[in-house]
Amino acid sequence: MKLLFSICGLLVASLLQAQVMIVPKPAECRSTDGGVFDFGASTALRVECAELSRGAAIFAGQVGAILGFEPAVKIGKAARKSVNIALDPSLKPEEYIMDVTGRSIDIVGGSAKGTFHALQSLRQMLIPFKGMKRAAAQSVHVKDAPFFAYRGMMLDVCRHFRTVDEVKEFIDLLSLHKLNVFHWHLTDDQGWRMPVDRYPLLTQVGSQRAETVVGHARDSKTYDGKPYGKGFYYTKDQIREVIAYAAARNIEVIPEVEMPGHAMAALAAYPWLGCRGEGYRTATTWGIFDDVFCAGKESTFELLENVLAEVIELFPAKYVHIGGDECPKARWKECPLCQKRIKDNNLADEHQLQSYFIRRIEKFVNSRGKSIIGWEEILEGGVSGTATVMAWKRPQAGIEAAKLGNSVIMAPSKFCYFDYYQSENQAAEPFAIGGFVPVSKVYQVDPYAELNSEERKTIIGLQANLWMEYIPTMDKVEYMVLPRMAALAESGWSYDRRDYSDFLTRMQNLRKLYDACGYNYAKHIFQE
Ligand SMILES: [Zn+2]
Repeated sequence: MKLLFSICGLLVASLLQAQVMIVPKPAECRSTDGGVFDFGASTALRVECAELSRGAAIFAGQVGAILGFEPAVKIGKAARKSVNIALDPSLKPEEYIMDVTGRSIDIVGGSAKGTFHALQSLRQMLIPFKGMKRAAAQSVHVKDAPFFAYRGMMLDVCRHFRTVDEVKEFIDLLSLHKLNVFHWHLTDDQGWRMPVDRYPLLTQVGSQRAETVVGHARDSKTYDGKPYGKGFYYTKDQIREVIAYAAARNIEVIPEVEMPGHAMAALAAYPWLGCRGEGYRTATTWGIFDDVFCAGKESTFELLENVLAEVIELFPAKYVHIGGDECPKARWKECPLCQKRIKDNNLADEHQLQSYFIRRIEKFVNSRGKSIIGWEEILEGGVSGTATVMAWKRPQAGIEAAKLGNSVIMAPSKFCYFDYYQSENQAAEPFAIGGFVPVSKVYQVDPYAELNSEERKTIIGLQANLWMEYIPTMDKVEYMVLPRMAALAESGWSYDRRDYSDFLTRMQNLRKLYDACGYNYAKHIFQE
């Protein structure tokens, strides 16, 4: 007993000296002299209304996995020795205030989103010493809200599939870092993973490829000879399950259906969708392919609109991402139907045909009450004023789009491509596509660079992308996104209060939570 007291005494003493370390950096976070809250098996989570109990239950499960007990969730009045959770409509939806004292932990949020963010901050404060089934939280006043409204990450499940459970784990990572958009890349040349009732071959045929390139696609002619992808697609029920799982964690799921390029898997399923009309197979290597959706055929638009109608029915998000990137024009140049479309519509060239394609699809999506996001190539040949542009490749693309007045999401590859190497010593790293994006680089991403105050209003936020050509396992997913996701989160949530050396200090604490969760994170910033 004496030993326990002295351990607890040490714990309390160390807490009183320590700074509260939360990532991403809160807007306001100051230590107070209210003592230390003892978080133990008898601590209850008291929510003011049923609406808040879902987030509280998720938090109970999260701390339960680490502390070895799950705090009870009760609906009712605030009490001592409890985490009291309530709404304050005067706050913005994602905003929260948290006061920790020796008496209680009091949380108010502008909505269930705000209170959930508060609990994620609290989670970072409740990391126990090894083997102890309790934790102590130091008294603190936190007032916090995100800078950017859109803070996202994309996961490509086409090149390598991820199961529903793995997708949920990815969503867990997002919510821990207070990101709020999961961009789900569901169709590409190497696999179509989105279920469409009306066109069953899209998944039955398009989910599978005969084999997969070995080594870097740039210089490899070796294939593994192993069929890939049988059964690797989602059912609509599974997608609903993921959407609900994400929603419970404040995350909106934006689906992406690629067009007019990156269409090989769809062409393999329904060859009439292509300009040549035959001879397609799901891609077995990575890259950009000349065979794309034929822009001259009415039947192409009919299928894509029917696909989008099912996507729109399934996903509640206001956006549908329609791709629009990397569409070679070689087939369109040779295709009489595509050429006729150009002539009939007085288009100057194939770039304007791409613009025609995107505008037509956008009109359909808009007619169903939704808006499109497209990769920056939708700027080529002209873009409508209502499309949201996701800038990724050319440094100037996002700036151009902002100057046009389009809404912009910044996802510049130089800062936000998490499939790139994290070290210049590539030999010591797991095999990757190339590039070099260390944590410090992610931290430097500036969505407002070169924009005046008027143009800045068009920037709705930022996103990082995880392309999966060279990422076949969940273990490697974790390695590629952690801790870069923390730097992204801080750029999005705490843009106006960033401080890299302070971030590195706070990461020492978040790292303990990564360890407690058993995540396979990259260690570079912890060895500097
Ligand atoms: Zn064509």
